[in-house]
Amino acid sequence: MPNSAVSTNAFADLRPSLPPLPFLAAPGYAATDAWVAALQAAMPDERIVPFSALSPADQAAVTVAIVANPDPAELAACPNLVWLHSVWAGVERLLAEMQDSQVHIVRLIDPRLAATMAEAVLAWVLYLHRDMPRYLQQQKEQRWQSQVYRRAAQRKIGLLGLGALGEAAARSLQQAGFPVLGWSRTQKHLDGVDCYSGEAGLAAMLAQTDILVCLLPLTAATTGLINAQRLAMLPAGASLINFARGPIVVEQDLRTALDATHLQHAVLDVFAVEPLPPDSWQWTHPAVTVLPHCSAPTDKESAAQIVAGNVKRYREQGLLPAGVNRQQAY
Ligand code: NAP
Repeated sequence: MPNSAVSTNAFADLRPSLPPLPFLAAPGYAATDAWVAALQAAMPDERIVPFSALSPADQAAVTVAIVANPDPAELAACPNLVWLHSVWAGVERLLAEMQDSQVHIVRLIDPRLAATMAEAVLAWVLYLHRDMPRYLQQQKEQRWQSQVYRRAAQRKIGLLGLGALGEAAARSLQQAGFPVLGWSRTQKHLDGVDCYSGEAGLAAMLAQTDILVCLLPLTAATTGLINAQRLAMLPAGASLINFARGPIVVEQDLRTALDATHLQHAVLDVFAVEPLPPDSWQWTHPAVTVLPHCSAPTDKESAAQIVAGNVKRYREQGLLPAGVNRQQAY
């Protein structure tokens, strides 16, 4: 066969000899079988297997892997890995564990995930906007008292991060009538969103924000970003929602701002240590709502379809999906 015919069209002939496509997860991960089933259903022509089913020859042949908090030793056992597809959107742990490797890392970008996060942002913004923490407390005290109503149009929501999730959240908040501000590393131009970037832009946004929603990736630049100094830039009575990663917020600084009632309430889905240890102050603080990292769970079926599309383009056309930028670390 002439060389010119071998790239795309020879695929059908090569397919029987394709290496298996392993799903690598943390040892003891309870959802491995469910992931393998969802991925296999989305890719009937591939052989999806857990790492334990790979023979030494398979390990050497593997060029692509699908991962969910993989064991670094299992990744290292596949020396010819070209790229891997995470089924999570946040890949800070993978990047840290793979610092010395050249393997191309692809994270999950799934409109279904963005819609789930946008729904969570709207739900918890409304929870704060309609004073639900206060009414819960009043009920405990059997106190009958209505709070002053403020229209959505009078409550500014500041989004930290205007990526796949931030942009979807901005749209659902706008539809609900909230004015939306957003901050990103590079300057964005989103219809109807007051966009900011840079240090001065962050200060300008914080000064106007009533509810701050964190949807940033965890990187060296965002670790500890929400500290005492930046919390103090928020107007008195503002609230915080952290749906991104725990270490972006300095937990002790947050506690101080809540104790001083400078911040009214914090809805926290993510923590420096997860699961949140039983003796953590957040569990019992009256101005904190604790969520168990549940704001936007990956949908296995839709994620499997996204992964399948990326694998197909690679197998058939040799195309690598857009990956994480190792310099920016997201
Ligand atoms: P993304 O598409 O990469 O967007 C990240 C956004 O953050 C971009 O707008 C980016 O700016 C901005 N950014 C990054 N570094 C910055 C910096 N130093 N200063 C200012 N802005 C910065 O990510 P995504 O898909 O929206 O996901 C965001 C994060 O959500 C994930 O990394 C993950 O940690 C978290 N997450 C949490 C859950 C949960 O259940 N709690 C679920 C899924 C994801 P540019 O636009 O200029 O690049």
